[in-house]
Amino acid sequence: MRDLSIYIHIPFCARKCLYCDFLSFSASAAEIKSYVNLLLREIKEQSVFYRDHRVISVFLGGGTPSILPAEAVGRILETVREYYRMTEGAEITVECNPGTVTAEKFIDYITCGINRLSIGLQSTQDEELERIGRIHDYKTFLETYRMARAAGFQNINIDLMAALPGQSIASYRETLERVTALSPEHISAYSLILEEGTPLYDRKEQYCFPTEEEDREMYQMTREYLEEQGYHRYEISNYAREGYACRHNQVYWQRGDYAGFGLGASSMVCDVRWRIPETMEEYRAYVENMQESPEAGRDCMDLASWQKNGGKQGVKERQVLGAKEQMEEYMFLGLRMMCGVNCRGFHDKFGQDMEAVYGAVLDKMMSQGLLLREDGYIKLSDRGIDVSNYVMAGFLLD
Ligand code: SF4
Repeated sequence: MRDLSIYIHIPFCARKCLYCDFLSFSASAAEIKSYVNLLLREIKEQSVFYRDHRVISVFLGGGTPSILPAEAVGRILETVREYYRMTEGAEITVECNPGTVTAEKFIDYITCGINRLSIGLQSTQDEELERIGRIHDYKTFLETYRMARAAGFQNINIDLMAALPGQSIASYRETLERVTALSPEHISAYSLILEEGTPLYDRKEQYCFPTEEEDREMYQMTREYLEEQGYHRYEISNYAREGYACRHNQVYWQRGDYAGFGLGASSMVCDVRWRIPETMEEYRAYVENMQESPEAGRDCMDLASWQKNGGKQGVKERQVLGAKEQMEEYMFLGLRMMCGVNCRGFHDKFGQDMEAVYGAVLDKMMSQGLLLREDGYIKLSDRGIDVSNYVMAGFLLD
């Protein structure tokens, strides 16, 4: 029996943030209801392909999943439980944004078995939040956080962002201090990437962004300060108290099986990757065509052949990963983890030594001080983390 992680995409937000290029938009209550019904059907219909899997994590991401009525979240999780084999103690996370939750909603979440929250704060400075178009201020976040603790959540992630317009080293430091004072179990800290086509990109001349040096300083400060405060960095941008690393995200970096449901969601199961359509019309057609799926599907190999042979199902960018692509991903996803990639694991999976495939690039990166070898693992050095894109590009095979 293989482990499976389930990602469920909720594409709705109260309002679009100015930097956002995720698949998210606002919608009426009726549109949300109709989407949830499609989602329930998709989750149910696809379950025939996962009979040889057991679910170790479920992640409701977005968008803003907490915009859904708690009753809808409950129905989604009930459907997962009814049609999939859930492991005892599976990690069940919901992403929430301050301003979209109430104390009652959190209590309902606990009742339906959600055991982890991921709260999008980004900054504790109200002017910074306003410049990037977040719907909340710091005070609203604090209320959200306290309500979550009062409801009984003992595993909370807080998302932070560096390199925001108008952000200074001092204001970022204050954000780190205020957040760690709350003692969440997990902190994710990314730098803002200005994406073309977003309103913030179009207005970039109006703002003073941190320089590249300041961005680097914030990055170093994140690492040093969070480590001083007892957070273990387990991935380039993710920090956790002992025992609270996010199980769901580790599945992505370790190339475990994950099934994505909902608009635009990605999946990778048994080394086949695909994506669900991104427009509501296509998604509706995709779910409605599912009735034509073989009623006798038994496992993920049936899923692969159903996608390949059906033609009507409409999954996008379906790709069967060959050994070359699997090895590349093993290296560049695995190297994101601070523990690195396991040499023995590589051999077990591919029947070849990592040295035989990547000897030249390993030697080169080690001699440049970018990679280290420790206890049977290859991992990024501090310098290697700074230039991780360069290091990872070295693992692409011709
Ligand atoms: S809350 Fe997140 S997904 Fe929604 S608009 Fe803002 S950044 Fe995008």
